Amino acid sequence: MSATKKLSLTSKVLIGMGLGIAIGLLINMTGLNVKGGFVNTYVVDGLFYVMGKLFINALKMLVVPLVFFSLLSGVCGIGNLKILGRVGTKSFALYILTTAIAIAVAIIIATSAHIGLGMNLAADTSFTTQTAPPLTEVLIGIIPTNPLAAMAQGQMLPLIFFTILLGVSIVMVGTKAKGIVAGIEVANEIMMKMVTLVMVVAPYAVFALIAKSMAELGLDLLGQLAGYVIVLVSALLVHLFFTLMIILKTFSGLSPREFMRKIREAQIFAFSTASSNATIPVTLRVITEKMGVDNSVASFTVPFGATINMDGTAIMQGVATVFIANIYGIDLGITGYLTVIMMSVLASIGTAGVPGVGLIMLSMVFYQVGLPVEGIGLILGVDRLMDMIRTAVNISGDAVVSAIVANSEQKLDQKTYNDPQAGLFTQ
Ligand code: ASP
Repeated sequence: MSATKKLSLTSKVLIGMGLGIAIGLLINMTGLNVKGGFVNTYVVDGLFYVMGKLFINALKMLVVPLVFFSLLSGVCGIGNLKILGRVGTKSFALYILTTAIAIAVAIIIATSAHIGLGMNLAADTSFTTQTAPPLTEVLIGIIPTNPLAAMAQGQMLPLIFFTILLGVSIVMVGTKAKGIVAGIEVANEIMMKMVTLVMVVAPYAVFALIAKSMAELGLDLLGQLAGYVIVLVSALLVHLFFTLMIILKTFSGLSPREFMRKIREAQIFAFSTASSNATIPVTLRVITEKMGVDNSVASFTVPFGATINMDGTAIMQGVATVFIANIYGIDLGITGYLTVIMMSVLASIGTAGVPGVGLIMLSMVFYQVGLPVEGIGLILGVDRLMDMIRTAVNISGDAVVSAIVANSEQKLDQKTYNDPQAGLFTQ
């Protein structure tokens, strides 16, 4: 057996990521990324783009059938409406709580760092405002008029609603539906196998995705926006390593070290794709197979979290608000910041976890507190990199809540959680 065969998939993905960063930055710094040039046209926008896009398509292809069958088998597996209600209530409450804490901490860090004060930057006027859907529409949209259409469009909340209702009905039919329940379990296993198949090409895809992002990164902007970038990344790391881990330890007693070790694999995919939604297949498998969370909980909390829980995005909104307010010399005051916290929490519900959506939500927040929306043009150039990092934080928040809820329901296998060898990519 050759040496590369012996490497675990995780190691290969990490190598792909490292090479991607190195090659991408090399292309960037040598000026080979210039538009219209050979390398940019055929390698960055050609080869890397196609390789990365194919993989993201494959992940997205898995999301709807995977969520459908795993959630259905989860509901049938629980078979108890009371427990279902409890899991739903607990995860919703924890998702809202963690997002609110995230943004409050971000605002505190950003205001104490005084970022943006006295700066003079030119805004990129190409940013056009898009509006996030109003809350009433989000609420109404939870119940699909046509479940197949909702599935076809990959709408997560209506899909979750329909699947739970279907599962509950199957449970109510009882023994007559035994055959169907067995079939659903097999279908769920088949979907998991498909995830394994797609993962085979992950190291190459991660390389391509990261190399492209790094090649296109505005390195000069990074310097100009150093204050914003440093404060934002610090706030994201504080949330990941302290806030979330303290919450995990306090509510479940589970080991933060083990958690950090295991979540890394899902974080790599979130970082490369900048999409919590596309990462659902990986998050789901990491949480069930490496952390020992029962599918009956994970199949609900993961897609639900990918849709409504965005701690990293909320942090970006907090930091960006302070930054832009300082640049324009606008004092938001306590009420302004409280509005920001509320708006960000609300905005994260109902907007899907896809690349760049955080900026759209940010324009809604700015509008509400009276900040100039074109200010977003200032941070546009570095947003892709920030998106990659905050998406990794977003899915980590989903995983923390999943572990806490599963543990409180005795649906977490501590042996698997504490076993460093357990799981998907290690074999
Ligand atoms: N890309 C993020 C996610 O998918 C959302 C955002 O902040 O833009 O979770």
